[in-house]
Amino acid sequence: MLRISQKIILSFAILMVISFLAMLYSTSQIKTIRDLSTGLAVEKETLEGIRTNIELRFTEYHLGTESMLSILDNGLLNDKYNNLRITQAEIFALLQKLERKKPEIFSNLTIQIYQKLAAYSENQERLYKLVKNFAQMQANDLFKNDLSPLGSMINQDIQLIKTETTIFFLKREQEVEQNIQHIQMISFTKVTVLLFAYVLTGFLLWNGSILPIVNLTQYLKSNKEKAADKVPFSERNDEIGDFARAYIDELSERVSAEEELKAQAQQMEDFAKQAKEANEAKSEFLANMSHELRTPLNAIKGMVELLSLKLRGDQKDMLNILQTSSDNLLKIVNDILDLSKIEAGAVELENIPFNFQKEVETVFESLKPIASKKDLDLFFHNKIDAPYYVLGDPLRFSRIIINLTNNAINYTREGRVTIKLTEEQKANENAHILIEVIDTGIGIDADRVDQIFEKFVQEDGTTTRQYGGTGLGLAITKELVELMGGQIGVRSRKGVGSTFWVKMPLTIAQETDMKEFQEAKASNAANAARATALPEDHKRIKLQDT
Ligand code: ADP
Repeated sequence: MLRISQKIILSFAILMVISFLAMLYSTSQIKTIRDLSTGLAVEKETLEGIRTNIELRFTEYHLGTESMLSILDNGLLNDKYNNLRITQAEIFALLQKLERKKPEIFSNLTIQIYQKLAAYSENQERLYKLVKNFAQMQANDLFKNDLSPLGSMINQDIQLIKTETTIFFLKREQEVEQNIQHIQMISFTKVTVLLFAYVLTGFLLWNGSILPIVNLTQYLKSNKEKAADKVPFSERNDEIGDFARAYIDELSERVSAEEELKAQAQQMEDFAKQAKEANEAKSEFLANMSHELRTPLNAIKGMVELLSLKLRGDQKDMLNILQTSSDNLLKIVNDILDLSKIEAGAVELENIPFNFQKEVETVFESLKPIASKKDLDLFFHNKIDAPYYVLGDPLRFSRIIINLTNNAINYTREGRVTIKLTEEQKANENAHILIEVIDTGIGIDADRVDQIFEKFVQEDGTTTRQYGGTGLGLAITKELVELMGGQIGVRSRKGVGSTFWVKMPLTIAQETDMKEFQEAKASNAANAARATALPEDHKRIKLQDT
């Protein structure tokens, strides 16, 4: 089997040869036509020349006859002897001329005249009379009478020539017409053959090359299950066969890769399932344990507090340590409980209208006493002019700011802590706000900055000793921020201070949202449901403004 490239080259070669031959043949035909028309023109010109010649000669002849007659009249009839001699010579010339023109008419007459001229050569007088008589008799009757039949004969000749030339031309025209028809027929045949050759070549190319490509493409595009033995044209010996075989190779590779991938995916799924189950089990365990731990811890805290009222100085110091330790333990337990809840996906965010600026302000107010205990200045810098309501979870929103501000106060020995609120963007129903908590505290080492949002990570070992904490607060905060679709980050310089920032997208509450919420709030059932859904330490209604 020929390859497609060979087929194409061969087709083009055949077409080119056919076209070239057709072109050559056309050129020769054009030459024939040109020759024919040139020949015709030459023939016509020649015949025209002949005809003009005959007509000219006739005119000459006619004029010659006229002048001869006048010479005869004026010359031969002249009585003067001197003149007779001249006339005699002219008569000879005339007779010779006439003899040349029409020998059959004049030959006998000329002989007679010559004879008579010879007989009467000595006698001029008699010759004169004879010639005069002859001239009178013959010139008038014979010449005149003979000249007109002669003219009509010439005319007849001319007519004959005319007719013959016309017939000749008609014949030639017919011949030329036949030639043209012949050429037309050959041209038509030639064009038909060429067309046929083109169509045949096109058909062969289409059938042998393009159609298989189309079919193969359709097969590849179809949803049919692809199997190596079902791929068409793989047995062909040309480019299509090459392509089909390459596809089969690729298919087999893909199938094995897919199988491998499937096995891996299954394995991954199993792992993920196991991990999820393990995580759920862990979260459940942690939740249960935290819950179980919290009850006795609270009891210990209560008892310690009661005891502190009754103890002496050094015993009180020991009790203080006990108190701090139990506080820390309770915080750890609470953090673990929160984190495990978030990780287990058990936290469902609320979606109610709240005044986020008011929330920040409340946090600020509530933390002010803690800051002033450490002689720190706590500021709230609200750069957003008009207050407005957004849809979201006010308690978790506050939790984020509490955590960051608590940290800022905790890790700052002197100076100030500022909570800054900026609006980055506001359009239609959406707003993007930036919350920054800026402190003049201990700062964080550049190489630890990236890790402090991870669980149980503190800047270094001394932190816990000096400032307490568990390393869970920022992890919880980050989870909450991301749960709300926001981002969190920090800029910090060791010994100078830190700026924790949160970028938060907010949906602006519309009038209908407010109305719906107020209706829901008015309903006791809704209130009760919400109250039970909230954690113990957050059971406060935060929607004073609604
Ligand atoms: P915790 O404060 O309970 O240790 P966090 O997750 O809240 O846990 O913080 C993780 C660590 O990040 C802290 O131990 C501290 O080293 C560092 N850190 C957090 N906030 C600040 C801050 N404002 N200034 C300096 N260091 C901070």
